[in-house]
Amino acid sequence: MTVKETVKSEPQGQIAKAYKFAEIAHSKQKRRTGEPYFVHVLATAEILNSWHLDEATIVAGLLHDTVEDTGTTSETITQEFGDQVTFLVNGVTKLGKIKYRGAEAEAKAENLRKMILAISEDLRVVFIKLADRLHNMRTLSALPPQKQRRIALETHEIYAPLAYRLGMQNISGELQDLAFPYLYPEEYRWLKAQVAEAYEARLKYLEKLKPVVQKALEDKGIRSATIDFRAKRYSSLYKKLLRQSMDVENIYDLVAMRLILKNQEACYGALGIIHSMWPPLPGRIKDYIAMPKPNGYRSLHTTVIGPEKKIVEFQIRTEEMHDEAEHGVAAHWIYKAHGGANPTQQKRVFDEAKWVEQLRRWQEHHAGTNPDEFLESLKVDFFRDRIFVITPRGEVLDLPVGSTPIDFAYEIHSEVGDTAVGAKVNNQIVPLSHELRSGDFVEILTQKNKKPSEDWLTFVKTSNAKDHVRIALRKKQTGLRKMAPLKSEIKMVTKDRVGLIKDIAVVIARSHVNLEGLTTALVPGGNFQSIKAVCDTADKQKIERLILKLKAIKEIKEISYRLLEHQAA
Ligand code: MN
Repeated sequence: MTVKETVKSEPQGQIAKAYKFAEIAHSKQKRRTGEPYFVHVLATAEILNSWHLDEATIVAGLLHDTVEDTGTTSETITQEFGDQVTFLVNGVTKLGKIKYRGAEAEAKAENLRKMILAISEDLRVVFIKLADRLHNMRTLSALPPQKQRRIALETHEIYAPLAYRLGMQNISGELQDLAFPYLYPEEYRWLKAQVAEAYEARLKYLEKLKPVVQKALEDKGIRSATIDFRAKRYSSLYKKLLRQSMDVENIYDLVAMRLILKNQEACYGALGIIHSMWPPLPGRIKDYIAMPKPNGYRSLHTTVIGPEKKIVEFQIRTEEMHDEAEHGVAAHWIYKAHGGANPTQQKRVFDEAKWVEQLRRWQEHHAGTNPDEFLESLKVDFFRDRIFVITPRGEVLDLPVGSTPIDFAYEIHSEVGDTAVGAKVNNQIVPLSHELRSGDFVEILTQKNKKPSEDWLTFVKTSNAKDHVRIALRKKQTGLRKMAPLKSEIKMVTKDRVGLIKDIAVVIARSHVNLEGLTTALVPGGNFQSIKAVCDTADKQKIERLILKLKAIKEIKEISYRLLEHQAA
């Protein structure tokens, strides 16, 4: 049932009440598109409804702009709709104040902190914000260009990754696709022209293949398979093209064939049947059912050499997995309704939810656990035991739970870690063993020539910090005090371009790595140059992360690194 239908069928319900309340509150406002403003809040609520969220969330979705954009006070919301709804609306209002511009570090830090706090307090606030953003992105063309760019950038860098992290891949992908033409208009036009033909051809080919697959499955007793095609999203296609020499012909999963089956056994069965018909490409069989992606995504993927020697990607999953891939954590939120909502709503919610069986099973396993504990377990699970803290420069670092200022210091830079003498958290001095929490502002006090102390090893959490402390202690013991920090050299073979060196230097600086030297030389033949960058770190993890980022620069054709011998200072 849609929100509109619920309003009709339950005119006395909370949703109907919020609907009328919002309609009146926004009656004088229009959107840039010329439509009444109410259209936007209703669309937001409809999106939340389609994710099967609970009543309070849908009510808050209808009311989400009343405090910000109309004269309504949060006291009025509390009187009319209670504390829970007010809490959600206030959360969204707070998130609305966040304006990410990608540059102003100060504003970024403060705002990201708010956002992160809101996340850890109640994920439903984030769901409303994502639904709100989704509708705003779908209607972005009505805004002036500058605003379009800012909102698209924020979507690209903050909200889409956030949705992905919450397992809402589909929503994340849609947000990225909506942002793409605004951020990269030329690339978008190029891509559209490139892809149109290839896409047509692939689709025709798969249409022919579909009945063949269907029959093969049925012959082996796998019935009621839903087979459809999933076109690769423009945004992820573009990312892939950047890695693969910009040749659309090389993208095998431009359109993938998706099989949705009854149960897990059928999935593995289907995989076997497909492999018996067409040889799979080595290294392309992915079992995300046995080993889900970190964000919870489950599916079997394989790529085979199909008829006419054409390469086809298959994605195989159950309906439940499919639903989870679409809705992510939102899919689990329904449980809340099971605990507190009225019977009609419970029924509505249960009728629509396909994964409810899974939750029932969970409940059997955890008999006696109350819903709050269940939600708690979800939170921990979905944030994968990570905390988010903010650097004085306004960047967000994610660290394992239990991390201390020392872990933080080494994450920023090995030298900061080695010379740390004290720490401030939210402007208050704390011991170096202090346990950090999400949303903390952390600052490290350093003193030149200080050395790590052995007892740091008893409380640091990250292997990065442990390794560095050990290295520093070893140096201390062997009396090699004057040793210069270990270095590394990154070697790249690139095409030349004006501004390339600057781009490389920027990527390095953003990774908190100091560039100590950079040399370029022409590779014989004249088409390529080789660039060597000496960096002041020998932290393999850090360098490998940096290399991943550098690979996104399309002129870089080859990249490798080596650790340099340490030299006396
Ligand atoms: Mn809104």
